[in-house]
Order: sequence, then structure tokens, then C-alpha cells
Amino acid sequence: VKQAKTGQRRVLAFGQGLTRLPDLTLDAEMVEGLAKRQFELYFQPKFDLHDGHVSGLEALVRWNHPKYGQIPPGEFIPRAEHTGFIQSLGLWILLKSCETVAQMQAQGLKPPQIAVNLSFIQLRDREFYKKLSSMISRLDIDPHCIQLELTETSVMENLETAQAVLTDIHNQGVSIALDDFGTGFSSLTHIHSFPISTIKIDRSFIRQMLEKENSRHLVRSLINLAHDLSLSVVAEGVESTQQLDLLKQMHCDHVQGFLTGIPMPFKAMVQMLGRQPKY
Ligand code: C2E
Ligand code: CA
Ligand code: CA
Ligand code: CA
Repeated sequence: VKQAKTGQRRVLAFGQGLTRLPDLTLDAEMVEGLAKRQFELYFQPKFDLHDGHVSGLEALVRWNHPKYGQIPPGEFIPRAEHTGFIQSLGLWILLKSCETVAQMQAQGLKPPQIAVNLSFIQLRDREFYKKLSSMISRLDIDPHCIQLELTETSVMENLETAQAVLTDIHNQGVSIALDDFGTGFSSLTHIHSFPISTIKIDRSFIRQMLEKENSRHLVRSLINLAHDLSLSVVAEGVESTQQLDLLKQMHCDHVQGFLTGIPMPFKAMVQMLGRQPKY
């Protein structure tokens, strides 16, 4: 808890610094940061509630800034999307994720599926799936080891391109998850036409689930709806055993959250997998 508090203070301090930092400076520093290897991927485990084992990892980018310390993605991804730098950064994130799978294979470890967040800007690139498939074939990894996470809104706002790009991706064996699900209701009627395998229920609903009856009903309905459509369900932001127990009762498939595992660097992640934690 103490560590979390310190982390939060540092984030706030940076946030205040960031508002004073001219956008152009931030832009230049991001470009330089990528060249100087200041970005790093952290990995957060997801657990399968049917057998208790780790079922996958989500890759979450961090920026180890020489002056401001570690900067969380919420502080720079929006700006990177605004300028288009997310195209380069996003490709680096994807490559690093594929390399992580290859590295684990080379070390004789069974690589878990790594879920990579994709920005709506990357989704607009019609060549995206070619870039993805060339990485996968060059590194000789199993495409099933990669999942792409797209937010519900980013798909909704790019319906036509999304349909084409996602179909190409899916045909390569890479699965797709709809992130932050439940925050943009319009898509409920559209998801059946997309090649999606998983929905991730937004953490705001999980947070309110114990106190608010309507949040609890919503979570239960989302799980049932997903199962009716043969989709699997991940609950995000699980922080308490009460939430975990309730999600088990509701037949949720996977959980991800601070209760079961925080985002961690590569080395710590490999150690965690070696301990074979169960939930
Ligand atoms: P997201 O995709 O919804 O990622 C989950 C966020 O929730 C992560 O924050 C994670 O650390 C946090 N989280 C996980 N479990 C818990 C919990 O139990 N409680 C609470 N309060 N939070 C939890 P993070 O790493 O700061 O990322 C924030 C957002 O930044 C992500 O939200 C995603 O939208 C974006 N992001 C992160 N990495 C990438 C990336 O590589 N590419 C792109 N395009 N976006 C990224
Ligand atoms: Ca995500
Ligand atoms: Ca999410
Ligand atoms: Ca989110």
C-alpha cells in the first residue's frame, strides 16, 4: 500500500509538471525516448477462473524518463495519438511483445498469450495486419500467443476500417478482445458481426459491483450475453476477494487486477510464472 501511495504521488507530481511542459517538448522527448530505449513493457497476469492458472498477460507500456521517473501511459499515449507518434510507438510495443514470446520460447518456457493494446490510430492503418504478420513470421512465433485489445469506442468510431482490418488479423490466428467493455453501449448490437473472441468488462463496473445492485446486474448480464455469443469474459480491476468470489459465482472466465497480480517487468513476470500462482 505504501508503495502504491508513493507511486501515485510521483504520478501527480509529473502530471503537474506535464501541464507546464510545452507539447512540442513532450513530443520531441517521446521521439528521443524511443530511440534511447526509455520505454519498457510491464506485464499483468490474467487468471482463468475455471482452473485457477495464469491464462495470459497484458502488456502495458511505461516510460522511464531520466528526469521525471516512471511515467504511466495515461500521461503520454493521448498526446502520442494526437501527433501520430503512436504509430511508431505502437509498432515498437507490438514488436517487443512478439519478441517476448520468442524469448520465452527460446528459454524453454511455455509462452502465455500476450494481449497488446492497440490505439484507434493504429486501426486506421490498412497495412497494419501486414506489419503484424511479418513480425510473427520473422520471429517464428505462434500467432495464438498474441491477442490485440481494442476499446469498444475505437471500434465503433471506425466501423468500416475496423471490420476489414480485424478480419485480416483474425484470419492470421491472432485473437481480438474488446477492452473497457460496457462503457459504450451502442456496440452491443454490433459485436456479433466482428471477429472477436473476448470482452473485458470495464473496471468501473467491477469497482461498484459490491455496493451497487445495478452494477452487479450489469456485470451478470454482460457475462451472460458474452456467453450466449460464445465469447469469453475478462473482469478488469479486481481488487478484493469479495469481487473475485462474486465473479466466480457469475461464471466469469478470467480475472485481472491488483488482487491477483500487479503489472510487472519481464524478469518479475518470468519468476511469477515459475511460482505457478493459482486463484
Ligand atoms: P487499460 O487497457 O484498461 O489497462 C488496464 C489499466 O488498469 C492499467 O493501467 C493497469 O495497471 C490498471 N489496473 C490493472 N488492475 C487494476 C486494479 O485492480 N485496480 C486499478 N485501479 N487499476 C488496475 P495503465 O498501465 O496505467 O494503463 C492505462 C491505460 O493506458 C490502459 O488502460 C490503456 O488504455 C493505455 N495503455 C497502456 N499500455 C498501452 C500500450 O501499450 N498501447 C496503447 N495504445 N495503450 C496503452
Ligand atoms: Ca487493455
Ligand atoms: Ca481496459
Ligand atoms: Ca481503461
